[in-house]
Amino acid sequence: MLSIFAVAAALCRRAGKRLDTARRLQHPQELRRVLDLLMEKVIIVGSGCAGLTAAIYAARANLSPLVLEGRQPGGQLSTTTMVENFPGFPEGIDGPQLIINMHEQAEKFGARFAYSEVTDFEAQPDHIRIKADDEWLETRALIVASGASARWLGLENEEKLVGHGLTSCATCDGAFYRNVPVCVIGGGDSAAEEALFLTRFASKVYLIHRRDALRASKIMADRVLACEQIEPIWNTVVTRYVPDEKGEMSAVLLRNVQTHEERELPVACVFVAIGHDPNTKAFQGKLETDPDGYLLVRHLAESKHPGVFIAGDVADRVYKQAITAAGSGCAAAMEAEKYLGALGK
Ligand code: NAP
Repeated sequence: MLSIFAVAAALCRRAGKRLDTARRLQHPQELRRVLDLLMEKVIIVGSGCAGLTAAIYAARANLSPLVLEGRQPGGQLSTTTMVENFPGFPEGIDGPQLIINMHEQAEKFGARFAYSEVTDFEAQPDHIRIKADDEWLETRALIVASGASARWLGLENEEKLVGHGLTSCATCDGAFYRNVPVCVIGGGDSAAEEALFLTRFASKVYLIHRRDALRASKIMADRVLACEQIEPIWNTVVTRYVPDEKGEMSAVLLRNVQTHEERELPVACVFVAIGHDPNTKAFQGKLETDPDGYLLVRHLAESKHPGVFIAGDVADRVYKQAITAAGSGCAAAMEAEKYLGALGK
């Protein structure tokens, strides 16, 4: 538990005040007044669909939320292409455009944004502290909407090859690979979407999947299977990346999981689309998680700590849709508003 002086000193440092001011603030009433002035009402961790929806709702409730955008501003939608299933857009909408719109909408109502990454978290009896870019921030309520990050295969040289013919984002990197063969790994909607997108540039797109049926939704699977430029390679896993002498991807080593036959497939780029892991590192051991690290939610948006709410893919291992993330962001913000109202803030 922090001393009153430590809290006062930290707040004064943030406000650029001298330390002797902090000593005067040891008077409980004065300290409470300054604490209230300097403490955030709501901090939102994450700026994907869930975080931005929470920001729109919290901002419209006059809570002036501070959104910490994290390592991947805009979350997963910022690396997708056309979103066809978000209600209200019969022609579909580009993922990044949808995010830009939500960002503008939140800002219009008074949300504030910072490009900070949260690394630690402490729940105090009457408020919450989070560490963002080495600075502790104090807030009455916290909405954790930190999303999920792309999963990798865990093969040798993986980290070194990222950016050298290995990526998890076709939208970001696809255009660099024109008229060359590429491969996508995975069988879900992401893999299907990436493969279809890459047909705009690559001479050939191999879709490498460990089973003989796609997990992707029927509409996406049908499109992939009907596309002549995409060649599915079924029941197959990648066992090794093969870089050339300059360290750029030149091929992958494949193994058929049924016949155990091995072969090399020349490709200029590997797009890994095998799902995501929840971004919960800062909260490990402090908020409840399931064995795979997803945060556990009670009553739609609550955590075990009063004042800490949860939204989006960081807690969703079932639906993982933009619209469900947006819905839970809305619920978290409304719960935060109710919580602050009960505190009289
Ligand atoms: P996903 O549905 O979990 O699919 C992951 C795929 O990768 C599965 O086919 C899985 O194989 C395979 N995989 C997992 N680990 C692997 C490994 N170590 N080696 C090889 N293959 C591996 O993930 P996602 O495609 O990212 O989709 C996540 C969610 O987002 C889904 O709910 C999806 O509907 C949604 N999404 C929607 C859209 C859209 O509507 N436009 C676009 C993208 C994503 P198995 O099939 O054998 O398990």
